[in-house]
Amino acid sequence: MPDPAADVRVRFAPSPTGALHIGGARTAIYNWAFARKTGGTFILRIDDTDPERSTAENTAQILRSLRWLGLDWDEGPEAGGAFGPYFQTQRAHAYRVALERMKANGSAYPCFCTAEELERKREAARSGDGTPGYDRTCRRLSADDARARIDGGEPHVWRVAVPEDRGDIVVDDAVRGETVFPASAMDDFVLVRSDGTPTYNFATVVDDADMEITHVIRGDDHLSNTPRQILVFEALASPVPRFAHLSMIWGADGKKLSKRHGATSVEAFRDEGILPEALLNYLALLGWSLDGQTTIVSAETLRATFSLERISKNPAIFDAEKLDWMNGVYIRDMPPEQLAERMLPWLESAGLASRADFELRRAWFLALVPLVNERLKRMTEVVPALGFLFASEITLDPASVEKALTTAEARTALRGSAEALGTLDRWDAASIEACLRAVADSLGVKPKVLFQAVRVAVTGSTVSPPLFESLALLGSETARARLVSAQAATAG
Ligand code: GLU
Repeated sequence: MPDPAADVRVRFAPSPTGALHIGGARTAIYNWAFARKTGGTFILRIDDTDPERSTAENTAQILRSLRWLGLDWDEGPEAGGAFGPYFQTQRAHAYRVALERMKANGSAYPCFCTAEELERKREAARSGDGTPGYDRTCRRLSADDARARIDGGEPHVWRVAVPEDRGDIVVDDAVRGETVFPASAMDDFVLVRSDGTPTYNFATVVDDADMEITHVIRGDDHLSNTPRQILVFEALASPVPRFAHLSMIWGADGKKLSKRHGATSVEAFRDEGILPEALLNYLALLGWSLDGQTTIVSAETLRATFSLERISKNPAIFDAEKLDWMNGVYIRDMPPEQLAERMLPWLESAGLASRADFELRRAWFLALVPLVNERLKRMTEVVPALGFLFASEITLDPASVEKALTTAEARTALRGSAEALGTLDRWDAASIEACLRAVADSLGVKPKVLFQAVRVAVTGSTVSPPLFESLALLGSETARARLVSAQAATAG
């Protein structure tokens, strides 16, 4: 027996009018996970019908963001597929065919009302005189009249003829349950504009029907469009897909997420040092849960367990601190070789290291990992934390100098440390620690005071990765040179 679930076909249909934001990314993740879980097909369709705001660069950025998150699509741009083209601007033919079908079965009619007439009618409706929505004037034209006016070149749009007896439209949503839209609220909306371009509600349905989409998973800003879209599916005699509308994402202040809340696009999070697997995990749980308690959910788990039933209908609150926490977990749990690899681009773009350097001194780069992996929350912290190991010269942070290097005792400690370290035969963390403790002891300086002075001298700051390991990685010569120069810089 064929597995009915294997026929699942879902789509993510972004408009390339800007960057991919986390709301859209979450929609993409749910579609992807649902397709993978059911063995279905995940389609990427580009809704580029807004000619002014749709750009190739935006499309490229959306594709890049999806791939960065680890999402792959089975059909769509760069993947091909039997149901293409996958750009709405290339699908004019499909919209023409669909309109012909609706004309033939009487579910679409031409409307010649001018913008001024429509405005007058709207005005009348507002003042309580007349019905809201289009009053169906042109629906009453005879077929011959309409044809004659079209042949005469009169500008016209095409409207859907909502069946008189259609009754209320019930959207049975997989997330939100049933919503009833009264038939009286459905006007004969426009399908095709006078310039021949399809409206969103028409193009989307034609594409979803032609692409045999079985489930429409999208943001609930489209719930109000759904009854109209159902009417078009019915007019085309196409099966109506199952709808699943996702609640919006809100900021912690209870307002719709926007730039005011900081980063909102996928690439902005990438640039701020969030790992793709952490962002995927975080967004997956922003409105869906595995079991109500598991917080770390990998892509593999997601694709093996995702279900529409566990999507929440409550609004999701974006919590940047939780994302940081989660990012920290992924950083901590990553195998060291992998984290070293992931650190490299950050060091490269700061001009501190190169791939060739990395290949040459792999063991050294690998040894950086335990210095930071327990404390990093974002990859942007890699350079501030480790920069002192790469720079040929460091700047001493004035506040740190003030705290740790201004006393005569501290300067004596630096001199003593430099000398003693120069005599070490083994340059490793344990030997360095033993050596510095002995210096503190012989000078009668508290170890804490000496360590802090050495730390500021070699790292530039009172806050640094573990001191002895840092010194070991820095190398004897550089470490001692820094002790000497800090001492000189703070003398007098
Ligand atoms: N292009 C539409 C959007 O980005 C798609 C909506 C839909 O999924 O139907 O909002």
